[in-house]
Amino acid sequence: MQGKKDYQEKLFIRFQLSDYVPQDNFYRQLKSVLDLRFLYDSTSKYYGREGQKSVDPVVFMKLMLVGYLENLNSDRRIIATSRMRMDILYFLGYDLDEELPWHSTLSRTRQLFGEQEFTAIFKLVLKMCIEKGLISGKRQAIDSAFVKANAAMSSVVEREVIDDAGTYGTELDANRNDQQDGTPTNADVKPRKNAKSDKTLNERRYSPSDPDARISVKPGKITRLNYSAQVSVDTHNHVVTHIQAFHADKGDGQCLPQVLAKVIDNLKENGLEVAEVFADAGYSSEAALQALTDNNIEGYIPNKSGSRTRDSREGFIYDRKNDRYTCPQGKHLTYRHLKKVNTNTHKIYSTGVKDCRGCPFKDACASPAGIKKLKDSIAKDLYTQIHQRLQTESGK
Ligand code: SF4
Repeated sequence: MQGKKDYQEKLFIRFQLSDYVPQDNFYRQLKSVLDLRFLYDSTSKYYGREGQKSVDPVVFMKLMLVGYLENLNSDRRIIATSRMRMDILYFLGYDLDEELPWHSTLSRTRQLFGEQEFTAIFKLVLKMCIEKGLISGKRQAIDSAFVKANAAMSSVVEREVIDDAGTYGTELDANRNDQQDGTPTNADVKPRKNAKSDKTLNERRYSPSDPDARISVKPGKITRLNYSAQVSVDTHNHVVTHIQAFHADKGDGQCLPQVLAKVIDNLKENGLEVAEVFADAGYSSEAALQALTDNNIEGYIPNKSGSRTRDSREGFIYDRKNDRYTCPQGKHLTYRHLKKVNTNTHKIYSTGVKDCRGCPFKDACASPAGIKKLKDSIAKDLYTQIHQRLQTESGK
């Protein structure tokens, strides 16, 4: 016989949330292992003794976790999703008929809590992973990803206008008039195609909605306001051992020393040591290689194309003992001085004017000043070392 379900809403029911959340449910398991009660002490400094009660800091942090785990990118969605899910309500410690915090209190609390509260949670979870044997610490893979800033490209204005409030007001008026005329405003200017111009572009323009966001792009992606998230992952079980935001126009190679210092600290606190670091060629820089050497860590980072790792070039032989080059005519290019170029430092070698005078190759070889100059990165030995390491079986 065909069944037919009738529904008559009951006014009172006997219901226990824990009966309906299975034992193997992820949030049920998380609730049993994650103890965030330390937050009551660590966040007490943010609250006064009187007034309305705030959102419970443990509930707030659990809601942030839910947002991350469920990939919910707005506070409104975090609350709406939590309200609909029995397992999340159980994780939060709310019953079916209890009102969850208002979504706008989440953003206020997020701004209220300092970075250290989030770092404390991260370190707590990291410690738990280490205690469970999920992290060996030995090998760390480091990479970066752009994280979209909460600001639109249309909010970008010329940086100079903030120097003078009067000029700024005039400029805003002018832009308004321009818009009415259909003339492009600052916001309409389409930024660059060349990644190298990021730095210059960001020196000239910024977004008042989010002044720390930087105009940036990766090949094949659209230009927008971003942050750069640097992430270190332990290769044993792919657990994140550190994550940090940087200005998106800062090169990966420049970020690595800071990331490395934090990873080392995070693991050292738990008795683990980093021995090897893997990263792509974007991380190859003097600063990065020096930081690895200073910390006695073996780097596996491919050199950028054009990095000099050989002792001879264009017929000029390097003499390591005397720190000089010798040209095909037997003249010496001696070390003269250091030259800083952006974030790199070069060693400059050159001949004297007398050396090249009368040389049959002078026109093709020497500069108009009549001397031959060569430059090497101050970190040439480190580039050579890492190049050789990558040629080994384990390096490959
Ligand atoms: S121009 Fe000077 S550096 Fe070049 S081959 Fe002649 S002597 Fe040597």
